[in-house]
Amino acid sequence: MIELDQVQKSYQVGDRAIPALKPTDLTIDTGEVFGIVGHSGAGKSTLVRLINLLERPTGGRVLVDGENVTHYDAAELRAFRRKVGMIFQHFNLLSSRTVADNIAFPMKLAGIYSKAEIRSRVAELLALVSLTDQGNKYPSQLSGGQKQRVGVARALACRPTILLCDEATSALDPQTTQSVLRLLAEINRELGLTIVLITHEMDVVRRICDRVAVMDGGEIVESGPVTDVFLHP
Ligand code: ADP
Ligand code: ADP
Repeated sequence: MIELDQVQKSYQVGDRAIPALKPTDLTIDTGEVFGIVGHSGAGKSTLVRLINLLERPTGGRVLVDGENVTHYDAAELRAFRRKVGMIFQHFNLLSSRTVADNIAFPMKLAGIYSKAEIRSRVAELLALVSLTDQGNKYPSQLSGGQKQRVGVARALACRPTILLCDEATSALDPQTTQSVLRLLAEINRELGLTIVLITHEMDVVRRICDRVAVMDGGEIVESGPVTDVFLHP
């Protein structure tokens, strides 16, 4: 479970503090797919970056599974980051490394896995995302949908319990979007991962989210089950 307790964030730019997130309360349950929608600049990325501690809040507390993660030191932070996978709009793959090595990368960084563990985990993940024969290719040799499947596999490498997706399908065509959404739904269902998903695509929300929060001007202006927040056409 992820709990935001009066979490707020302002960015210091020169001598000005720019408010990006007003004091916000939010609970995301274990195993749910939670969507965050809103216009550009609404504070969506900031909210998500506060969950994986890429940003520190300027006020309030973030609790994950009941534990206050806000004041973690560097070592605690490294362990915590393994619990939280992230996928991005532009995939953020390393172009000079093979698909297999991209997937292995977070495990190598973690420094706690043996070569044998990494090898078998990479093979397992390649199979999970239907790229078994593509491990030795480079990202430039893959389609957009395949690249994002590598992004998903890499995010899952260290067996996280939370997956954060920042506009993960926004660079993909509709058909490829569907296949990535099916993969995310399968991961949610079969691995029980909690998924938090930023998107500007209503169709994405309708297809896989259980609940949704609508953000505007640095605050959540509405939230609830998707069927309550958005009327179906
Ligand atoms: P969204 O993801 O909904 O587009 P963001 O969370 O990126 O919104 O941004 C919210 C507000 O915070 C915007 O006004 C944005 O310009 C500002 N902001 C975001 N990141 C930074 C930063 N690193 N430094 C200064 N201002 C930022
Ligand atoms: P290293 O960087 O350790 O020299 P590689 O770059 O060849 O190794 O591979 C990165 C990681 O991915 C290694 O841990 C390796 O065991 C694993 N790996 C490489 N190719 C494959 C593959 N086709 N299937 C499964 N695992 C692979």
